[in-house]
Amino acid sequence: MKQVYQLITFALLSLFATSQVHSDEGMYPISEIARLNLSQKGLQLTALELFNPNETCLIDGICRVNGCTGSFVSPQGLIITNHHCAYRAIQSASSTKNDYLKDGFQAKTKATEIPAAGYTVRVTESFTDVSKQVLSVVNADMSFVERSKAISRKRKLIEKRAEEENPGIRAEVAEMFTGKTYVLFLYTYIKDVRLVFAPPSSIGNFGGDVDNWEWPRHTGDFSFMRAYVAPDGSTADYSPDNVPYQPKRFIQVAPQGANESDYVMLLGYPGRTARHKTSSFLSFEQDVRLPYIVDLYGRQIETMEKAGELDRAVALTLLSRIKSLANTEKRSRGQLKGLTRKQIVAKRSAEEQKLQAFIDADPVRKAKYGQLLDNINSVYQTLSETAVEEANFQNLRSTSQLLRLAFTIYDGAHERQKPDLERESAYMDRNFSQTISRLKMIQKDLNLNVDQALLAQLIDQMKNDKMEVPALDGLVLEDLYKQTKLKDPTFLQTCLNQTPEQLKANSDPFIQLIVKLYPQYLELRESSKARDGQLGLYYGELITLKQQFLDTDFVPDANGTLRLTFGTVRGYSPEDAVYKSPATTLSGVVAKTTGIAPFITPEKVLEMSEKREFGPYMHPKLKDIPIAILYDTDTTGGNSGSPILNGKGELVGVNFDRAFEATINDFAWNTEYSRSIGVDIRYVLWITDKVYGAKHLIKEMGLN
Ligand code: ASP
Repeated sequence: MKQVYQLITFALLSLFATSQVHSDEGMYPISEIARLNLSQKGLQLTALELFNPNETCLIDGICRVNGCTGSFVSPQGLIITNHHCAYRAIQSASSTKNDYLKDGFQAKTKATEIPAAGYTVRVTESFTDVSKQVLSVVNADMSFVERSKAISRKRKLIEKRAEEENPGIRAEVAEMFTGKTYVLFLYTYIKDVRLVFAPPSSIGNFGGDVDNWEWPRHTGDFSFMRAYVAPDGSTADYSPDNVPYQPKRFIQVAPQGANESDYVMLLGYPGRTARHKTSSFLSFEQDVRLPYIVDLYGRQIETMEKAGELDRAVALTLLSRIKSLANTEKRSRGQLKGLTRKQIVAKRSAEEQKLQAFIDADPVRKAKYGQLLDNINSVYQTLSETAVEEANFQNLRSTSQLLRLAFTIYDGAHERQKPDLERESAYMDRNFSQTISRLKMIQKDLNLNVDQALLAQLIDQMKNDKMEVPALDGLVLEDLYKQTKLKDPTFLQTCLNQTPEQLKANSDPFIQLIVKLYPQYLELRESSKARDGQLGLYYGELITLKQQFLDTDFVPDANGTLRLTFGTVRGYSPEDAVYKSPATTLSGVVAKTTGIAPFITPEKVLEMSEKREFGPYMHPKLKDIPIAILYDTDTTGGNSGSPILNGKGELVGVNFDRAFEATINDFAWNTEYSRSIGVDIRYVLWITDKVYGAKHLIKEMGLN
């Protein structure tokens, strides 16, 4: 791999370097590692061995796999991540004849590894604070929409230039603190990713949605993938000539695992948290958005599950979507429960009252910020009034995959006529081929009956909500679904080549429907940009104020960039008189097995458990195979697949979930209830090595 130009600066440090870091936060940007005194907590490496901007270090072994995290565990680009992270790839490769979701998959040789279409792998190479550059384009006279557009344009420009200067590299300007801090990340970007090994879903998804977001847990949620590059080391689309990527560093797997009270740390790409948002935002989540999601997704999951029940071929087109909706639906329920039980809104509101008193105590501050909290609150108030209607309307094109296709085609035709930097990001030259391959994947899994049922449901819902959308009046859905040709790949390609005018004359009923709905989508896009501009400005001020008020620094909310979190393997007490210990065992899997999904266990696992064929993977004290562990790190979605590392930086497990109470983490972290869940490496190795005999992978990881 060509050595990437290192743009590292320590500018990010200056964002946090004034005083102590707020102790409630635990997803540290890697620039912070040196300040954390991790050796006192149990780290046996130096901070520089963990992260060194000038030399190879541990973080070079961590990658982002689509929205998840992975670790390179061999010099040959072998990646360990979660089964649920590879799920889409496993589903795509499965058919009723080769049902890898049901039976698992193992490539005995590299040549039989299966391309995972739509998957990319990124490795963080460098980061630079570009806040000044980004914010140089805004001024006090701008409207909120202008502000939002100017910032977005500047971010795109910086990204584009960085990619031109560093061919093959992916650039992204991440917003660290809303409206205030921006950092340019450069990534090695790998587009040929393949599936290497996946256990059957009865292991990788044992317990299914019943056990999802729960502890105790008995899921072997892991899989192996591999990253490939062109023979000259450059990034390339899939080709049989590509060769395994050689990471600068790989993470050593430690078969001894981690036990209660051990220090652990996770590196990964946590997606989104909202800990710096106001109580009015939290009220909006609690009263409007989360209940809406629970309701909508609940119905959609039921419809899709029914459709898949009788026909495995149908199920194989829907499972990944069902899984993802079910994950969000249950997390949202957890969050709703946590918000009320822990009185998160009231607590944040009390903090804001103190902040208001601080503002009011100083006439200069009062003149400048006196209205700030009220201003933010009124944005959410306005949003609440229209949110359900907006959500229904926006969800039309995520609920119906045909509408999604039609929308992207039509929107793309408009956007592609604009200069590159003025386009919505999906249609920029640097992103467009990915957008098209996503469309093709959607098309491949299209199921017209299910699509129709889901769309009909949502339209009914809109009627119940008394929404007036003239374009939907009198639609006969059966006719639309009979007439559409969007399922045909050649037709899709034709549409993608058409101009907006040609599309207006296109007779496909879904294109026609989108042509009618489009002006309303554009209005919503503008209003959401105005809102972003407004909130961006206000939240930028709020963070500055809070830093003054609390005389402390904050760690930015998770935003999909590389972070470190650390903690200890430990149990917890979710409610009065209940204590849950932090390790589960194979005996627990057997005890939970009923033979009815999702509690089915492969015969071989049961037999080997019965005969106690544990090999070297037995837990010395429990005298059993350890399955999952629980620890008090600070994680969120995106940390799925994160390595659980011991003090020496060796991999002892793979993170995949949180306890139900910890779903509230996304709004407020607390050591009492925040617990993450990972699969113990001993279970991973036992399944891979002893149960499915993939000795070559064990060897490749340098074990045995
Ligand atoms: N299982 C989780 C997810 O998929 C990971 C987490 O949020 O902790 O989002």
